[in-house]
Amino acid sequence: MSTSWAQFKREEIFIDGTWRKADSGRMIDVFDPASGEVIGQVPEAGADETRAAIEAAARAFETYRKTTAEERAAMLRKLASLIEDNKEPLAQLLTKEQGKSLTESRGEVAMSAKYILWFAEEARRVYGDTIPSPWADRRLMVTKEAVGVVGAITPWNFPSSMLARKIGPALATGCTIVCKPATQTPFSGLAWGLLCAEAGFPAGTVNILTGSASKIGGELTSHPDVAKITFTGSTEVGRILLAQAATTVKKVSMELGGNAPFLVFDDADIDRAVAGAIASKFRNSGQTCVCSNRIYVQAGIHDAFVEKLAIAAAGLKLGSGFEDGVEQGPLIDEKAIEGVGSFVEDAVSKGGKIVQGGKRVQRDGFFYEPTVIVNASSDMRFAREEIFGPVAPVFRFETEEEAIALANDTEYGLACYFYTRDLGRAFRVSEELRYGIVGVNEGVVTTEVAPFGGFKQSGVGREGSKYGLDDYLETKYVCIGGI
Ligand code: ADP
Repeated sequence: MSTSWAQFKREEIFIDGTWRKADSGRMIDVFDPASGEVIGQVPEAGADETRAAIEAAARAFETYRKTTAEERAAMLRKLASLIEDNKEPLAQLLTKEQGKSLTESRGEVAMSAKYILWFAEEARRVYGDTIPSPWADRRLMVTKEAVGVVGAITPWNFPSSMLARKIGPALATGCTIVCKPATQTPFSGLAWGLLCAEAGFPAGTVNILTGSASKIGGELTSHPDVAKITFTGSTEVGRILLAQAATTVKKVSMELGGNAPFLVFDDADIDRAVAGAIASKFRNSGQTCVCSNRIYVQAGIHDAFVEKLAIAAAGLKLGSGFEDGVEQGPLIDEKAIEGVGSFVEDAVSKGGKIVQGGKRVQRDGFFYEPTVIVNASSDMRFAREEIFGPVAPVFRFETEEEAIALANDTEYGLACYFYTRDLGRAFRVSEELRYGIVGVNEGVVTTEVAPFGGFKQSGVGREGSKYGLDDYLETKYVCIGGI
């Protein structure tokens, strides 16, 4: 394959091994968030194209499910190598449409390869059981089988790796898949079609559609041949998809929103806590579902922490992701800028004090200053809602019990973080926090070998790790009599 990122920019959808336009011929513009300029177009597919993709996936499933785990693992290993070999152009394509720095894009693409490799390895470990029989003349056996056709819908913040977490386990277990990447960042999604075909996956095993979210989502969630829906995105859209999928009782995995608390206790290593807060808050310019949303600092360390945090936030280099040393790229679009601005206005109107940033950056594209706000209080919107931008609200607390109660006071339960050097507290607090992912003295904890997913309204199921295959498998009990 060529080393140019343009090689991976396909302005067509991928159905049954063929690249084509939408039936209507209509196209949607894709923008570079660092400049606001159009960088290409993708087809506006709807229900008809989705149905064609589901039918292709259903046909492909009949033969693909019968391949051996070894054959599937070999193709997945090839896919992982192709991603690694093309890391640079894929990272450039990602930065072009999503805005994050090239360093972050390279990290994301490398993570995609790691997920695929992980699932290549796990493909051969889909074990069943034999159960001691309560009948002398019968034997009881449990096997695991691919669920069938999977419908996958992914967001714009990690357009490569969010699909890796879904395509990987689907193909490892013998499922086939129809993917709809986010409209803002479709090219990294469509690139999966090129890569999977090159890796040898048969026509129809992987299909990629761009276009109307509600029409494609509506068809994926209602078509009887789709066995499972896997979604990463907002809790709001997750609720819609869950309701739609209920009609045909599909299996569901949902990676939804978060409202991550970040607790700093008086006994914390303050510099380590500041570095962790910066990493967990400002990664991808604050646009991840595991970004710290609420920073709670114990009274004794509060002022020193805020001072260091503000200096570190001010020092983040902002600019186009293609510029050397940039740590803060643009937000995804104008709506995101307005959203972040509204959180800041709300906080200031209720007594919040901006100690760093607080404004849009006056230049082309969608840039917002890394922002730190103190005097944050629970009546401010960011105490309940996900900011999804580079704003760090700092709240003050007095006791461990208070911190735990504040941290758990949310409908979300994805990631949380806390900093302490007291071993007893490390165990106590992590056991009390109602979250699927807990970082103790660490601000960035995602890895393909550990389960990713949330408690409460942050979702259903887990991605990555040995648990990441479960949602793609049916359990079959076979009772053999007359022995
Ligand atoms: P975000 O706030 O991160 O954009 P969304 O939940 O809005 O999260 O979007 C995540 C994905 O869900 C995107 O691919 C988007 O196009 C898709 N989506 C949005 N609305 C719907 C819907 N009604 N049905 C199906 N998919 C949808």
